[in-house]
Amino acid sequence: MALSQNSEKGDPVDQSTGVTYEGSCHCKAVLYSVKLPSEIPSLPVISCNCSYCHVSGSFHAFADDIEIRQGEEALKEYRFGTHSIKIFFCGTCGANVYNRSVNPKFIFGKCAINVRLLQGVDLGAIEVTKREGKDFYPPPL
Ligand SMILES: [Zn+2]
Repeated sequence: MALSQNSEKGDPVDQSTGVTYEGSCHCKAVLYSVKLPSEIPSLPVISCNCSYCHVSGSFHAFADDIEIRQGEEALKEYRFGTHSIKIFFCGTCGANVYNRSVNPKFIFGKCAINVRLLQGVDLGAIEVTKREGKDFYPPPL
């Protein structure tokens, strides 16, 4: 749920405020909050075609951080390929909650939040930008 209203599409975004969304995995073992720079419809949402995102179907928006409020112990970590991205998913239901880059040369320190798991997001209203991730992250051998 958006806790604060922010800008219309194209307006400058005040990074100090942003919009806070609540999210959960499918089984609700993992509950979290995330502050995004603006509301989802005005924010770039990425559909990556790397071998993992192809399988998970996640749509991602980028945030500086994520606050896990419940179920940190339920989160499992997965890495493949160059191991540049830590993929976090619920160990019970398997939902991909978020990913974090550990590669200083690739969106370092940012969290890719799976917007499919956020409350109050109309997936049909999202303009999805395709990202060519498959050349960087082919399937594991
Ligand atoms: Zn779960």
